[in-house]
Amino acid sequence: MELDRTDFKKNFQRVTTGLYGVDIEECSPSQLYTVLGTLIKAYAGEDWNKTKKYYEEEQVKQLYYFSMEYLPGRMLKSNLLNLDLLDTVRDILKDMHLDLDELIQAEVDPALGNGGLGRLASCFMDSLASLGIPGAGDGIRYKYGLFQQKFIEGHQVEVPENWLRNGNVWETRRENKAVIVRFGGQAYLYEDANGHLVPFYQNTQNILAVPYDTAVIGYQNEIINTLRLWSAEIPPHEEIHYHNLADQQSVNQLTEVLYPDDSNYEGRLLRLRQEYFLCSAGIQSIIRYYKKMDRTMQEIAEYVAIHINDTHPALCIPEFMRILLDEEQMSWGQVWEITKKTMSYTNHTIMQEAMEKWPVYMLEETIPRVYQIIEELNRRQIEKKIPLYGEEMAYRTAIIQEGHVNMAHLAIIGSHSVNGVAQLHTNLLKHEVLKEFNQLYPAKFNNKTNGITQRRWLQLANEELTALLDRKIGTEWKKNPAELKIFKSFAEDEETLNELAEVKLKNKKRFAAYVKEALDIEIDPTALFDVQIKRLHEYKRQLLNVLHIIHRYFDIKENPEKDIQPRVFIFGAKAAPSYLYAKYVIKLINSVAKLVNEDHAVGDKLKVIFVENYGVSLAELIIPAAEVSEQISLASKEASGTSNMKLMLNGALTVATLDGANVEIRDHVGDDNIFLFGLTAEEVYQYYQDGTYQSREIYETNPQVRKVLNALIDGTIPDVLEEGHVIFDSLVNDNDEYFILKDFDSYLRAQEKVDELYQDPHKWNQKSLLNIASSGPFSADFTIKRYADEIWHIDSVLPEEEQHMHHEPM
Ligand SMILES: *Cc1c(COP(=O)(O)O)cnc(C)c1O
Repeated sequence: MELDRTDFKKNFQRVTTGLYGVDIEECSPSQLYTVLGTLIKAYAGEDWNKTKKYYEEEQVKQLYYFSMEYLPGRMLKSNLLNLDLLDTVRDILKDMHLDLDELIQAEVDPALGNGGLGRLASCFMDSLASLGIPGAGDGIRYKYGLFQQKFIEGHQVEVPENWLRNGNVWETRRENKAVIVRFGGQAYLYEDANGHLVPFYQNTQNILAVPYDTAVIGYQNEIINTLRLWSAEIPPHEEIHYHNLADQQSVNQLTEVLYPDDSNYEGRLLRLRQEYFLCSAGIQSIIRYYKKMDRTMQEIAEYVAIHINDTHPALCIPEFMRILLDEEQMSWGQVWEITKKTMSYTNHTIMQEAMEKWPVYMLEETIPRVYQIIEELNRRQIEKKIPLYGEEMAYRTAIIQEGHVNMAHLAIIGSHSVNGVAQLHTNLLKHEVLKEFNQLYPAKFNNKTNGITQRRWLQLANEELTALLDRKIGTEWKKNPAELKIFKSFAEDEETLNELAEVKLKNKKRFAAYVKEALDIEIDPTALFDVQIKRLHEYKRQLLNVLHIIHRYFDIKENPEKDIQPRVFIFGAKAAPSYLYAKYVIKLINSVAKLVNEDHAVGDKLKVIFVENYGVSLAELIIPAAEVSEQISLASKEASGTSNMKLMLNGALTVATLDGANVEIRDHVGDDNIFLFGLTAEEVYQYYQDGTYQSREIYETNPQVRKVLNALIDGTIPDVLEEGHVIFDSLVNDNDEYFILKDFDSYLRAQEKVDELYQDPHKWNQKSLLNIASSGPFSADFTIKRYADEIWHIDSVLPEEEQHMHHEPM
């Protein structure tokens, strides 16, 4: 985008006084950020409007991506980059004695997601717009979203994240597009004059869903899509029904907090109401838009694709049916075919406790008409499957089982496509977890390995590495990440390897400065930086990491003369507030950190840094500084992972189990450039079958394991009396559900190899370079291209020569 510099300065001045009534000099960085955001949003407005008009006039097929979570991170810098204004604006602000980077830092991260699932949705938004694919996101505008994490004496404490405190410059409230969502009451069917069954609703609670739209700016292509987040309000003219406080609160509550748990659902009713609120508001608005076109409802699947990100928005299926049946008066048979054609579903987990199941009575009470439709769907499904597959199979794959609605079953039956998020995960779905469904509908199952946007995770987060790549391989990789592989040809070039090492060192120093400022801990930027950043969960095995740290600590203490490679272990992780065990692990890591960091005999040989409140912005700071990427989940448990991809892209070497997308990372980078360890998924399943794993045996026979575990309970690690015992028990007495002791030895050996390789900077840098050069296939651009081609059947609106996706790398 072209900018007139004088104009821009004038406008900046004008907006400043307009918003705040003072001079620029008197504004805080946060206010100046708001000024700049307001201006940039206005500059982008024209393309936003143009894109919307184009989609509407050309009647292009559009995707609607439903997700209960998004994790977009800060938007100012990303928007500047995608509008091609980053350098220009930085320069103009410098003229005005303002520091763009200070303004960028003043933006608050939207707290709209938990972790990987929400971040994936945001990477997908960025890729859709950047590829010129008409695709909108639907989500909830949580007023507080996910909690803010604080550590008090090493314990996680959750405090409200009031991220909208200073407003949100990027959003546009669209009151005129609001819809009514109905809850509760009774729904009766009666026959109208034409013989159609129409529902009559009584005593419902009506809530106004107001959309807030945010521009999703494509990468330097003038395409701007929309992320639509819904907020609950009391409907105008119905205030009289809300005279008591409890009813008012039930509306406000609806879009206040994100369930701080992406793996198991407690608390329940509010979460169910949130899910239906999103689905109903989103589907109503899609149908209203579609009806503006001069098309019949029969053809809607040719113009609309609806994707549900995990089962949380699976109520889209019966809600869509409800509208076609009740309001469009279509027949069941027709509606059913159209619904399946329109809907597609991504499965994100095989963890049983994360599979959503809603008690029937809750659905009956909360959304009676929608439940009727689910019940009828279930009845017809069973009736159809019994003669084909027998009773047992029909009931095993039913939507309603033992008084619960199985949302995964609903999502599979109601969609034409079910995808896993990495090859291994998809195989497990097809042959283990959902094998019955794979027998019923083999054609529905497919794999779409997750991806990440190289724009945020390289161009924005690592400007130094971006500049190095530009100098070495040109700039085409930014539009076509497959070109990153050209960097391989520099693997023997000493100068390039040194420059790469310099870039890494600069990023490490930047992170070290943050650590000094935030935690008042000095870390040596020449030590090896080892990173594990992700939600805290037993299957992700942060515990394995910290057991290795304890082992290392003993080694240093017992062998003061030994030449040990200095290492800084970096953690970032939030635990679900109700997930006690995960919180114990946080406390343990913090206690080990305190012990190690304050031990003068240890010095720089070992430091442990646990950053508070891990989120996208911290990830952007940590990942460019990382040298080792810890991807150590128990094989078969991590569906894909995406931090593994971000870290690889930034030149970290991966220590990994063969889990999720680690398998594909290994395939691309080669066995020599990754440190593998541990059981395979197949071996894990074999153990489940035989039931022969005995963790206590390892404790009793392996002196290294015994020593480390004893430290949990004998007072060696300060202040973990309760935590230490619970963790010890789970590992020794409760048979170590995640095979931590089983994998411990092999993990230590992998870590020894890491230390050894680090002694040879040439070899290390070479492997780092090869990781960067092999990461192109993990661009979300390729992932989205596959979804668009194979699931949604939606084309880019850009001319062929601007699509830049010449070679498919996988
Ligand atoms: C990428 C990302 C994740 C996902 O990390 P995994 O290691 O794949 O679980 C979670 N949180 C944030 C903030 C991220 O950027």
